[in-house]
Amino acid sequence: MRGACVHTARLALDIALPTLCVACREPVHGEGVCAECWSKLSFIAPPYCPRLGIPFVYDPGPDLLSMEAIANPPAYGRARAAVRYDDVARTLVHALKYQDRTDLAPAMARWMARAGRELLDEADALVPVPLHWRRGWSRRYNQSGALARVIERQTGVKLKSEALRRIRPTEQQIGLSRTDRASNVQGAFKVVPDRKADIEGRRVVLIDDVLTSGATVDACARALLRAKAARVDVLVFARVVDTHKAPI
Ligand SMILES: [Zn+2]
Repeated sequence: MRGACVHTARLALDIALPTLCVACREPVHGEGVCAECWSKLSFIAPPYCPRLGIPFVYDPGPDLLSMEAIANPPAYGRARAAVRYDDVARTLVHALKYQDRTDLAPAMARWMARAGRELLDEADALVPVPLHWRRGWSRRYNQSGALARVIERQTGVKLKSEALRRIRPTEQQIGLSRTDRASNVQGAFKVVPDRKADIEGRRVVLIDDVLTSGATVDACARALLRAKAARVDVLVFARVVDTHKAPI
């Protein structure tokens, strides 16, 4: 009898609130994205550069780094991303960032946790890339923080969202050259003095929504390493993959 009641209640709820695809808003069975949008997401899987996580077109063998990792080694150890930053990924990122669609965070974070499993297995702390307080107020919440909170719940790795701060507002990185992006964010981040114990000696995974040139996460990693983090890895939802460049 009780089972029947619960079943009826669920049925009523399903009728009242049909689940919609997070990307195209068409009704969907279950949660997340519909089959069509799912097929348009490019999940990143090996083979990829063990440092930058940039996908290789063919497998060059274990431990072979991408040219970019050799030419421009980042301050962080390893970077991983769930998907390539293309149309559906951009829709998800923008909805989370600008439309307060926090309901997207669980699915996005689950894909991130899968892509970053080896990083998260060894991690002591999650640190989201912080917004400057002015931007945080206008946008109301930090999308990287929203993703990091779900990853904490899914993996048990502790979230330290207060440890890293953006100490000066920075220009939007959109439209800036690679060099300008780096100087725009240089020295923009700092570990809060009374939160150093959260970072010192810890293996940190930095969380962000999108990785473009890597300048922002690199500046964050430098700040965390200055505060004596044992290592800093990076986990993002989506990364820009330049398909025009040679794979290795
Ligand atoms: Zn869809």
